[in-house]
Amino acid sequence: MSYSVATIGKDSEGLMRKSRAKCECGSSAELQYKAKLGRFGIHKVTVFNVPVYSCNGCGNSFMNGSDAKKFAKRIEDAVKSNLIEINFD
Ligand SMILES: [Zn+2]
Repeated sequence: MSYSVATIGKDSEGLMRKSRAKCECGSSAELQYKAKLGRFGIHKVTVFNVPVYSCNGCGNSFMNGSDAKKFAKRIEDAVKSNLIEINFD
């Protein structure tokens, strides 16, 4: 009996993240990894290496939808584990 192993890169989200995104002002925003302060209730958590798009035009910074969801989840988990500093990944 033989079988083959398929390598699927589905869970490597980082590779699928674009290096640029369009800001709502119309300029292009560049992907950068930054430390960001998040909140959950009264708690604050610093998250390192957060993928954030920074706009060259208006200075706005934002995350993509799935990263924003993950960020919120990571904050919640950190607070439940009594952590004040975590890494995004
Ligand atoms: Zn902008």
